[in-house]
Amino acid sequence: MKHIVVTGAAGFLGSHLVQSLIHQGHRVTGIDNLSTGILRNLEEVMVNPRFVFHQADVTQPDSLDILADQQVHEIYHLASPASPKFYQADSIGTIWVNTQGTYHMLELARKKEARFLYSSTSEAYGDPEIHPQPESYRGNVNTWGPRACYDEAKRLGEVFCYEYYTKQQVSVRVARIFNTYSSGLRNDDGRVISNFVTQALTGQDITVYGDGSQTRSFCYVDDNIRGLQALMAEDKAEGEIINIGNPTEYSILEVAYLVKQLTGSDSNIVFLPLPEDDPKVRRPVIDKAREILNWEPKIALEEGLGRMIQHYRTMLLQERVQVQE
Ligand code: NAD
Ligand code: UDP
Repeated sequence: MKHIVVTGAAGFLGSHLVQSLIHQGHRVTGIDNLSTGILRNLEEVMVNPRFVFHQADVTQPDSLDILADQQVHEIYHLASPASPKFYQADSIGTIWVNTQGTYHMLELARKKEARFLYSSTSEAYGDPEIHPQPESYRGNVNTWGPRACYDEAKRLGEVFCYEYYTKQQVSVRVARIFNTYSSGLRNDDGRVISNFVTQALTGQDITVYGDGSQTRSFCYVDDNIRGLQALMAEDKAEGEIINIGNPTEYSILEVAYLVKQLTGSDSNIVFLPLPEDDPKVRRPVIDKAREILNWEPKIALEEGLGRMIQHYRTMLLQERVQVQE
Protein backbone atom coordinates (compact mmCIF):
# COMPACT_ATOMS: atom_id res chain seq x y z
CA MET A 1 0.00 0.00 0.00
CA LYS A 2 1.38 3.39 -1.03
CA HIS A 3 0.59 6.79 0.45
CA ILE A 4 -0.39 8.98 -2.50
CA VAL A 5 -1.09 12.73 -2.43
CA VAL A 6 -3.54 14.13 -4.99
CA THR A 7 -3.99 17.89 -5.33
CA GLY A 8 -7.21 19.04 -6.98
CA ALA A 9 -8.83 15.95 -5.42
CA ALA A 10 -12.38 17.34 -5.43
CA GLY A 11 -12.22 18.32 -9.08
CA PHE A 12 -13.30 16.34 -12.12
CA LEU A 13 -10.11 14.37 -12.81
CA GLY A 14 -8.84 14.42 -9.22
CA SER A 15 -11.96 12.77 -7.83
CA HIS A 16 -11.94 10.02 -10.48
CA LEU A 17 -8.23 9.42 -9.77
CA VAL A 18 -8.77 9.28 -5.99
CA GLN A 19 -11.58 6.73 -6.41
CA SER A 20 -9.38 4.57 -8.60
CA LEU A 21 -6.42 4.73 -6.17
CA ILE A 22 -8.62 3.90 -3.17
CA HIS A 23 -10.16 0.93 -5.03
CA GLN A 24 -6.62 -0.30 -5.73
CA GLY A 25 -5.95 -0.36 -1.97
CA HIS A 26 -3.75 2.72 -1.52
CA ARG A 27 -3.86 5.36 1.20
CA VAL A 28 -4.69 8.76 -0.30
CA THR A 29 -4.50 12.32 0.99
CA GLY A 30 -6.60 14.62 -1.17
CA ILE A 31 -5.88 18.33 -1.07
CA ASP A 32 -8.26 20.90 -2.54
CA ASN A 33 -9.32 24.48 -1.82
CA LEU A 34 -12.78 23.79 -3.30
CA SER A 35 -12.51 26.76 -5.67
CA THR A 36 -13.91 24.80 -8.63
CA GLY A 37 -14.10 21.34 -7.06
CA ILE A 38 -17.10 20.03 -5.13
CA LEU A 39 -17.17 17.64 -2.16
CA ARG A 40 -20.02 15.67 -3.73
CA ASN A 41 -17.42 14.28 -6.16
CA LEU A 42 -15.70 12.59 -3.18
CA GLU A 43 -18.85 11.32 -1.43
CA GLU A 44 -18.04 7.66 -2.12
CA VAL A 45 -14.47 7.74 -0.75
CA MET A 46 -15.04 10.19 2.12
CA VAL A 47 -16.14 7.35 4.42
CA ASN A 48 -13.12 5.19 3.57
CA PRO A 49 -10.52 5.14 6.40
CA ARG A 50 -7.69 5.09 3.80
CA PHE A 51 -8.79 8.50 2.47
CA VAL A 52 -8.10 11.84 4.15
CA PHE A 53 -9.43 15.10 2.73
CA HIS A 54 -7.54 18.29 3.54
CA GLN A 55 -9.11 21.60 2.50
CA ALA A 56 -6.16 23.85 1.69
CA ASP A 57 -4.71 26.13 -0.96
CA VAL A 58 -1.45 24.67 -2.31
CA THR A 59 -0.08 28.14 -3.03
CA GLN A 60 0.14 28.65 0.76
CA PRO A 61 3.40 27.22 2.20
CA ASP A 62 1.73 25.93 5.41
CA SER A 63 -0.92 24.04 3.40
CA LEU A 64 1.27 20.94 3.41
CA ASP A 65 2.18 20.94 7.12
CA ILE A 66 -0.16 18.01 7.77
CA LEU A 67 2.20 15.85 5.71
CA ALA A 68 5.30 16.83 7.69
CA ASP A 69 5.69 13.54 9.58
CA GLN A 70 4.31 11.26 6.90
CA GLN A 71 5.98 9.18 4.25
CA VAL A 72 4.69 10.04 0.75
CA HIS A 73 5.37 7.75 -2.22
CA GLU A 74 3.66 9.57 -5.08
CA ILE A 75 2.26 13.05 -5.76
CA TYR A 76 -0.26 13.83 -8.50
CA HIS A 77 -0.42 17.62 -8.84
CA LEU A 78 -3.75 18.25 -10.54
CA ALA A 79 -4.88 21.42 -8.74
CA SER A 80 -5.80 24.18 -11.21
CA PRO A 81 -9.02 25.32 -12.78
CA ALA A 82 -9.26 23.78 -16.26
CA SER A 83 -12.40 25.29 -17.78
CA PRO A 84 -11.83 28.59 -19.64
CA LYS A 85 -14.86 29.99 -17.78
CA PHE A 86 -13.23 29.34 -14.39
CA TYR A 87 -9.56 29.98 -15.18
CA GLN A 88 -10.40 33.32 -16.76
CA ALA A 89 -12.56 34.28 -13.75
CA ASP A 90 -9.57 33.62 -11.45
CA SER A 91 -6.68 34.30 -13.80
CA ILE A 92 -4.15 35.32 -11.14
CA GLY A 93 -5.07 32.32 -8.95
CA THR A 94 -4.56 30.11 -12.02
CA ILE A 95 -1.07 31.52 -12.53
CA TRP A 96 -0.19 30.99 -8.86
CA VAL A 97 -1.45 27.44 -8.53
CA ASN A 98 0.50 26.30 -11.59
CA THR A 99 3.70 28.11 -10.64
CA GLN A 100 3.97 28.66 -6.89
CA GLY A 101 1.69 25.68 -6.22
CA THR A 102 3.81 23.47 -8.48
CA TYR A 103 6.95 24.71 -6.72
CA HIS A 104 5.54 23.80 -3.28
CA MET A 105 4.49 20.34 -4.48
CA LEU A 106 7.89 19.73 -6.10
CA GLU A 107 9.59 20.77 -2.86
CA LEU A 108 7.42 18.24 -1.05
CA ALA A 109 8.41 15.57 -3.61
CA ARG A 110 12.08 16.42 -3.11
CA LYS A 111 11.87 16.17 0.69
CA LYS A 112 9.85 12.96 0.63
CA GLU A 113 11.71 11.41 -2.33
CA ALA A 114 8.31 10.88 -3.92
CA ARG A 115 7.46 10.42 -7.59
CA PHE A 116 5.80 13.49 -9.07
CA LEU A 117 3.24 13.84 -11.87
CA TYR A 118 2.24 17.26 -13.17
CA SER A 119 -0.99 17.68 -15.12
CA SER A 120 -0.10 20.02 -17.95
CA THR A 121 -2.34 20.52 -20.95
CA SER A 122 -2.73 20.48 -24.71
CA GLU A 123 -3.12 24.26 -24.25
CA ALA A 124 0.67 24.31 -23.99
CA TYR A 125 0.49 24.09 -27.82
CA GLY A 126 -1.79 27.17 -27.95
CA ASP A 127 -3.49 27.63 -31.33
CA PRO A 128 -1.33 25.02 -33.07
CA GLU A 129 0.29 25.51 -36.46
CA ILE A 130 1.35 21.85 -36.57
CA HIS A 131 -1.45 19.30 -36.75
CA PRO A 132 -1.76 16.83 -35.05
CA GLN A 133 0.44 17.80 -32.11
CA PRO A 134 3.46 15.70 -31.03
CA GLU A 135 5.22 16.49 -27.74
CA SER A 136 8.17 17.93 -29.69
CA TYR A 137 5.99 20.79 -31.05
CA ARG A 138 6.83 23.96 -29.13
CA GLY A 139 3.49 25.64 -29.56
CA ASN A 140 1.89 28.89 -30.64
CA VAL A 141 0.68 30.65 -27.50
CA ASN A 142 -0.46 34.27 -27.33
CA THR A 143 0.95 35.80 -24.14
CA TRP A 144 -1.38 38.81 -24.48
CA GLY A 145 -4.83 37.36 -24.32
CA PRO A 146 -7.45 35.76 -22.06
CA ARG A 147 -6.06 32.21 -22.34
CA ALA A 148 -2.47 33.17 -21.49
CA CYS A 149 -2.97 32.92 -17.71
CA TYR A 150 -3.62 29.19 -18.15
CA ASP A 151 -1.42 28.31 -21.13
CA GLU A 152 1.68 30.17 -20.02
CA ALA A 153 1.29 29.19 -16.36
CA LYS A 154 1.14 25.53 -17.42
CA ARG A 155 4.23 26.01 -19.58
CA LEU A 156 6.06 27.55 -16.62
CA GLY A 157 4.81 24.69 -14.44
CA GLU A 158 6.55 22.35 -16.89
CA VAL A 159 9.74 24.39 -16.51
CA PHE A 160 9.63 23.94 -12.72
CA CYS A 161 9.35 20.18 -13.32
CA TYR A 162 12.33 20.25 -15.70
CA GLU A 163 14.46 22.13 -13.14
CA TYR A 164 13.57 19.78 -10.29
CA TYR A 165 14.24 16.78 -12.52
CA THR A 166 17.62 17.93 -13.80
CA LYS A 167 18.95 19.73 -10.71
CA GLN A 168 17.19 18.11 -7.74
CA GLN A 169 16.83 14.53 -9.03
CA VAL A 170 13.06 14.50 -8.42
CA SER A 171 11.39 11.71 -10.39
CA VAL A 172 9.03 13.88 -12.44
CA ARG A 173 6.73 13.14 -15.37
CA VAL A 174 4.41 15.54 -17.18
CA ALA A 175 1.06 14.65 -18.76
CA ARG A 176 -0.14 16.98 -21.50
CA ILE A 177 -3.81 16.21 -21.12
CA PHE A 178 -6.22 16.76 -24.02
CA ASN A 179 -9.96 17.47 -23.58
CA THR A 180 -11.39 14.87 -21.21
CA TYR A 181 -15.05 14.35 -20.27
CA SER A 182 -17.54 12.24 -18.29
CA SER A 183 -19.67 12.45 -15.20
CA GLY A 184 -18.00 14.46 -12.44
CA LEU A 185 -17.82 17.53 -14.67
CA ARG A 186 -19.97 20.18 -13.00
CA ASN A 187 -22.99 20.98 -15.13
CA ASP A 188 -22.13 24.69 -14.79
CA ASP A 189 -18.46 24.03 -15.63
CA GLY A 190 -18.75 25.77 -19.02
CA ARG A 191 -16.73 23.23 -21.01
CA VAL A 192 -18.27 22.08 -24.23
CA ILE A 193 -19.36 18.54 -23.37
CA SER A 194 -20.92 19.45 -20.02
CA ASN A 195 -22.68 22.43 -21.63
CA PHE A 196 -24.04 20.45 -24.59
CA VAL A 197 -25.24 17.50 -22.49
CA THR A 198 -26.91 19.76 -19.89
CA GLN A 199 -28.49 21.91 -22.61
CA ALA A 200 -29.76 18.91 -24.56
CA LEU A 201 -31.22 17.19 -21.50
CA THR A 202 -32.98 20.31 -20.25
CA GLY A 203 -34.29 21.44 -23.64
CA GLN A 204 -32.20 24.62 -23.76
CA ASP A 205 -30.50 25.83 -26.92
CA ILE A 206 -27.21 24.02 -27.67
CA THR A 207 -24.65 26.84 -27.88
CA VAL A 208 -22.05 26.37 -30.61
CA TYR A 209 -19.37 29.08 -30.50
CA GLY A 210 -18.30 30.34 -33.94
CA ASP A 211 -19.43 28.19 -36.87
CA GLY A 212 -18.50 24.98 -35.03
CA SER A 213 -15.79 24.04 -37.53
CA GLN A 214 -13.07 24.18 -34.84
CA THR A 215 -12.01 20.71 -33.71
CA ARG A 216 -11.18 18.91 -30.48
CA SER A 217 -10.35 15.28 -29.63
CA PHE A 218 -12.22 13.95 -26.60
CA CYS A 219 -10.94 11.36 -24.15
CA TYR A 220 -13.22 9.48 -21.76
CA VAL A 221 -12.17 9.84 -18.14
CA ASP A 222 -11.45 6.13 -17.50
CA ASP A 223 -8.91 6.14 -20.34
CA ASN A 224 -7.33 9.32 -19.00
CA ILE A 225 -6.99 7.98 -15.43
CA ARG A 226 -5.46 4.74 -16.74
CA GLY A 227 -2.99 6.86 -18.73
CA LEU A 228 -2.04 9.04 -15.73
CA GLN A 229 -1.45 5.96 -13.57
CA ALA A 230 0.67 4.32 -16.27
CA LEU A 231 2.69 7.51 -16.55
CA MET A 232 3.29 7.50 -12.80
CA ALA A 233 4.17 3.79 -12.67
CA GLU A 234 6.50 3.52 -15.67
CA ASP A 235 10.21 3.96 -14.84
CA LYS A 236 10.99 4.86 -18.47
CA ALA A 237 8.57 7.82 -18.24
CA GLU A 238 10.80 9.64 -15.73
CA GLY A 239 11.74 13.07 -17.07
CA GLU A 240 9.30 12.76 -20.00
CA ILE A 241 6.42 14.88 -21.26
CA ILE A 242 3.69 12.65 -22.71
CA ASN A 243 0.39 13.49 -24.46
CA ILE A 244 -2.60 11.80 -22.83
CA GLY A 245 -5.62 12.13 -25.09
CA ASN A 246 -7.81 10.44 -27.66
CA PRO A 247 -6.61 10.98 -31.24
CA THR A 248 -10.08 10.84 -32.83
CA GLU A 249 -10.95 14.38 -33.87
CA TYR A 250 -14.42 15.95 -34.18
CA SER A 251 -15.67 19.37 -35.17
CA ILE A 252 -17.67 21.05 -32.41
CA LEU A 253 -20.73 21.11 -34.69
CA GLU A 254 -20.45 17.32 -35.13
CA VAL A 255 -20.37 16.99 -31.33
CA ALA A 256 -23.51 19.13 -31.02
CA TYR A 257 -25.39 16.87 -33.46
CA LEU A 258 -24.08 13.73 -31.75
CA VAL A 259 -25.24 14.92 -28.31
CA LYS A 260 -28.63 15.89 -29.74
CA GLN A 261 -28.99 12.45 -31.33
CA LEU A 262 -27.85 10.47 -28.27
CA THR A 263 -30.13 12.38 -25.88
CA GLY A 264 -33.08 12.40 -28.30
CA SER A 265 -33.36 16.11 -27.51
CA ASP A 266 -35.44 18.62 -29.48
CA SER A 267 -33.12 21.49 -28.44
CA ASN A 268 -32.15 23.94 -31.17
CA ILE A 269 -28.50 24.38 -32.14
CA VAL A 270 -27.63 28.09 -32.00
CA PHE A 271 -24.43 29.90 -32.96
CA LEU A 272 -22.72 32.40 -30.61
CA PRO A 273 -19.50 34.41 -31.09
CA LEU A 274 -16.24 32.48 -30.97
CA PRO A 275 -14.18 33.38 -27.85
CA GLU A 276 -10.87 35.21 -28.41
CA ASP A 277 -7.86 32.97 -29.19
CA ASP A 278 -10.02 29.82 -29.34
CA PRO A 279 -7.72 27.13 -30.88
CA LYS A 280 -8.92 26.12 -34.37
CA VAL A 281 -7.75 22.50 -34.22
CA ARG A 282 -6.51 20.08 -31.59
CA ARG A 283 -5.55 16.43 -31.80
CA PRO A 284 -2.78 14.53 -29.99
CA VAL A 285 -0.07 12.37 -31.48
CA ILE A 286 0.03 9.50 -28.98
CA ASP A 287 2.95 7.46 -30.36
CA LYS A 288 5.02 8.26 -27.28
CA ALA A 289 2.29 7.08 -24.89
CA ARG A 290 1.87 3.91 -26.95
CA GLU A 291 5.60 3.20 -26.93
CA ILE A 292 6.61 4.18 -23.39
CA LEU A 293 3.39 3.46 -21.50
CA ASN A 294 1.83 0.81 -23.73
CA TRP A 295 -1.29 3.00 -23.41
CA GLU A 296 -3.99 4.07 -25.78
CA PRO A 297 -7.61 5.08 -25.24
CA LYS A 298 -10.31 2.42 -25.66
CA ILE A 299 -13.61 4.27 -25.29
CA ALA A 300 -15.07 5.98 -28.36
CA LEU A 301 -16.92 9.29 -28.00
CA GLU A 302 -20.34 7.77 -28.69
CA GLU A 303 -19.92 5.17 -25.95
CA GLY A 304 -18.49 7.64 -23.43
CA LEU A 305 -21.19 10.18 -24.15
CA GLY A 306 -23.85 7.50 -23.69
CA ARG A 307 -22.49 6.72 -20.20
CA MET A 308 -22.18 10.39 -19.31
CA ILE A 309 -25.72 11.21 -20.45
CA GLN A 310 -27.11 8.51 -18.12
CA HIS A 311 -25.16 9.96 -15.16
CA TYR A 312 -26.19 13.53 -15.98
CA ARG A 313 -29.85 12.55 -16.30
CA THR A 314 -29.76 11.05 -12.79
CA MET A 315 -27.82 14.01 -11.36
CA LEU A 316 -30.18 16.60 -12.86
CA LEU A 317 -33.25 14.71 -11.62
CA GLN A 318 -31.70 14.60 -8.10
CA GLU A 319 -31.30 18.37 -8.34
CA ARG A 320 -34.99 18.53 -9.34
CA VAL A 321 -34.16 19.98 -12.72
CA GLN A 322 -36.74 19.13 -15.38
CA VAL A 323 -35.18 16.67 -17.83
CA GLN A 324 -36.51 15.77 -21.30
CA GLU A 325 -37.36 12.03 -21.62
P1 NAD B 1 -11.36 20.93 -12.11
O1 NAD B 1 -11.55 22.42 -12.12
O2 NAD B 1 -12.57 20.08 -12.12
O3 NAD B 1 -10.47 20.50 -10.88
C1 NAD B 1 -9.40 21.24 -10.40
C2 NAD B 1 -9.37 21.17 -8.89
O4 NAD B 1 -8.28 21.93 -8.37
C3 NAD B 1 -10.64 21.73 -8.24
O5 NAD B 1 -11.17 20.79 -7.34
C4 NAD B 1 -10.17 23.00 -7.54
O6 NAD B 1 -10.96 23.33 -6.42
C5 NAD B 1 -8.73 22.64 -7.21
N1 NAD B 1 -7.85 23.81 -7.02
C6 NAD B 1 -7.73 24.88 -7.82
N2 NAD B 1 -6.83 25.75 -7.32
C7 NAD B 1 -6.38 25.18 -6.16
C8 NAD B 1 -5.42 25.59 -5.17
N3 NAD B 1 -4.79 26.76 -5.27
N4 NAD B 1 -5.20 24.78 -4.12
C9 NAD B 1 -5.86 23.59 -4.01
N5 NAD B 1 -6.77 23.16 -4.91
C10 NAD B 1 -7.02 23.94 -5.97
O7 NAD B 1 -10.42 20.59 -13.36
P2 NAD B 1 -10.06 19.16 -13.97
O8 NAD B 1 -10.72 19.04 -15.29
O9 NAD B 1 -10.27 18.08 -12.97
O10 NAD B 1 -8.51 19.35 -14.24
C11 NAD B 1 -7.52 18.79 -13.36
C12 NAD B 1 -6.14 19.10 -13.90
O11 NAD B 1 -5.97 18.53 -15.20
C13 NAD B 1 -5.86 20.60 -14.03
O12 NAD B 1 -4.53 20.83 -13.66
C14 NAD B 1 -6.05 20.86 -15.50
O13 NAD B 1 -5.29 21.94 -15.95
C15 NAD B 1 -5.59 19.55 -16.13
N6 NAD B 1 -6.22 19.32 -17.44
C16 NAD B 1 -7.52 18.90 -17.52
C17 NAD B 1 -8.11 18.71 -18.76
C18 NAD B 1 -9.52 18.21 -18.90
O14 NAD B 1 -10.01 18.05 -20.03
N7 NAD B 1 -10.23 17.91 -17.82
C19 NAD B 1 -7.38 18.99 -19.93
C20 NAD B 1 -6.07 19.45 -19.80
C21 NAD B 1 -5.50 19.60 -18.55
N1 UDP C 1 -17.61 25.56 -27.08
C1 UDP C 1 -18.84 25.71 -27.71
N2 UDP C 1 -19.94 25.83 -26.93
C2 UDP C 1 -19.90 25.78 -25.57
C3 UDP C 1 -18.65 25.62 -24.93
C4 UDP C 1 -17.52 25.53 -25.73
O1 UDP C 1 -18.93 25.75 -28.95
O2 UDP C 1 -20.97 25.89 -24.94
C5 UDP C 1 -16.40 25.40 -27.93
C6 UDP C 1 -15.25 26.30 -27.57
O3 UDP C 1 -15.35 27.54 -28.23
C7 UDP C 1 -14.06 25.47 -28.05
C8 UDP C 1 -14.51 24.03 -27.85
O4 UDP C 1 -15.94 24.08 -27.77
O5 UDP C 1 -13.86 25.68 -29.44
C9 UDP C 1 -13.95 23.39 -26.59
O6 UDP C 1 -14.20 24.28 -25.52
P1 UDP C 1 -13.89 23.94 -23.99
O7 UDP C 1 -14.17 25.16 -23.21
O8 UDP C 1 -14.59 22.69 -23.60
O9 UDP C 1 -12.35 23.57 -23.97
P2 UDP C 1 -11.05 24.19 -24.66
O10 UDP C 1 -11.41 25.36 -25.52
O11 UDP C 1 -10.21 24.60 -23.51
O12 UDP C 1 -10.51 23.08 -25.46
